[in-house]
Amino acid sequence: MDQRVTAPDSLHELLERQRASFAAEGAPSLAQRRDALRRVEALLKSGQMRLADAISADFGNRSKPETVLSEIMPGIAAAAHARAKLPGWMRRERRTVGLNFKPAKNWVEYQPVGVVGVVAPWNYPVFLTVGPLIDVLAAGNRCMIKPSELTPATSALLGELIAARFPAEQVAVVQGDVSVGRAFCTLPFDHLVFTGSTNVGREVMRAAAENLVPVTLELGGKSPVILADDFPLAPAARKIAVGKLFNAGQTCTAPDYVLAPAESAERFAELVIDEAEAMFPAFDGNPDYTAIISDRHFARLGELVAEAEAQGGRVLRHRAPATGNVRHFPPTVVLDPPLESRLMREEIFGPVLPVVRSESLDSAIRFVNARPRPLALYLFTKEPATERAILDRTISGGVTVNGTIVHTGQEDLPFGGIGPSGMGAYHGREGFLRFSHARGVHKPGFFSGLEFMRPPHGRKTRLALKALAGADLG
Ligand code: NAD
Repeated sequence: MDQRVTAPDSLHELLERQRASFAAEGAPSLAQRRDALRRVEALLKSGQMRLADAISADFGNRSKPETVLSEIMPGIAAAAHARAKLPGWMRRERRTVGLNFKPAKNWVEYQPVGVVGVVAPWNYPVFLTVGPLIDVLAAGNRCMIKPSELTPATSALLGELIAARFPAEQVAVVQGDVSVGRAFCTLPFDHLVFTGSTNVGREVMRAAAENLVPVTLELGGKSPVILADDFPLAPAARKIAVGKLFNAGQTCTAPDYVLAPAESAERFAELVIDEAEAMFPAFDGNPDYTAIISDRHFARLGELVAEAEAQGGRVLRHRAPATGNVRHFPPTVVLDPPLESRLMREEIFGPVLPVVRSESLDSAIRFVNARPRPLALYLFTKEPATERAILDRTISGGVTVNGTIVHTGQEDLPFGGIGPSGMGAYHGREGFLRFSHARGVHKPGFFSGLEFMRPPHGRKTRLALKALAGADLG
């Protein structure tokens, strides 16, 4: 067996080691959690250039500024935020006590759940492993991570960097493909976080259900943009092009398609191509333009565009020639895509932007609501009433207003999908709560009225229940 692949048999052993260590040591203190978070920050800070090189090698070119912006900076910010907020998050919460139970005390304390499994995809191979890890450690847990097999250099480096800073009883990285992923998801974790596609998410949830393991599923889908007719086209085109072309569209929260006012859709489509050409004047040797992860993914994007064009969509292409040396897929806009085409049914996950004409705000909202609930929704308007109407009448995991993808990197906002785009949010306080058990504790006072109501029930019980509930027990 390949040395870099973790044998499925050893997965159980690793889980048992983490469990035993957790049982022996109990919940870590505030100082221990802060120390663990500092180690993650140090890993990101000192390892960032090696990580950026590894990701670029895995992609065949990944823009290094994009790696720092999307994988390193949000990780460091999330760990620092958790370190600062932990005392408040960990504090026990006093809760009210009903009149019948006074003078008792009620409180909630947040306990680590134990060992959390993390399964990650390839598209942000650092932030989608280290991001969950930060919240898992903040909540005081142990963690086993299974990164993607499509980013082997990054996954191996992550394993090395983590092993240098954490004992395997606390954090361990296991390596392998889908078969290891499957075996991993059959482990009786105390919680399992899966980030990946909706179809695999279904399988993961099924496997977890066998052991009644609670899951957090961070899945994909088609995130729409609603462009209202009051918003100027040029800045909208710029912000949408930036969000779409970041990581060459291989972003779970990338704007998938745009619902544009019917009369300006064509002009908007041209402006998006202008913006793409301004940002990426050429592909050949351009380190800023990220490549598509594999030949299979590259070929699929070509098929989606060709099918939409054959069915009547109008394709606008970036003018610079792609040489084919690197898997650079040219930024492409498809105006009036056929709604039954794969382009409009499947998550695109590449630098292809369908622009759909919409007759009114109402029809745009109906379009979104007729489809599965998306991970993200973007809206462009300067009218507060329009903004409110879209926020009130649609449901999505998260939203950026008058921008794209930026909500994802906010350390103090919950991040997660809804329905087919996922379940359970993490990041910040929501992440701490996600991986903690809220344990309710009741402590009776020196006196409890219930003491008088134990059997055999006589006059005292009857009088008390009459007074408390109005019950006439005769
Ligand atoms: P994927 O579902 O193919 O794989 C994700 C991980 O699951 C990999 O580590 C893989 O080895 C493992 N895996 C595959 N099959 C498995 C199985 N049957 N059982 C257990 N594990 C299995 O996803 P991908 O192609 O790596 O990533 C792209 C998808 O991820 C897109 O749909 C994208 O939208 C989604 N995504 C979502 C988020 C989010 O936060 N919501 C973030 C990034 C990507």
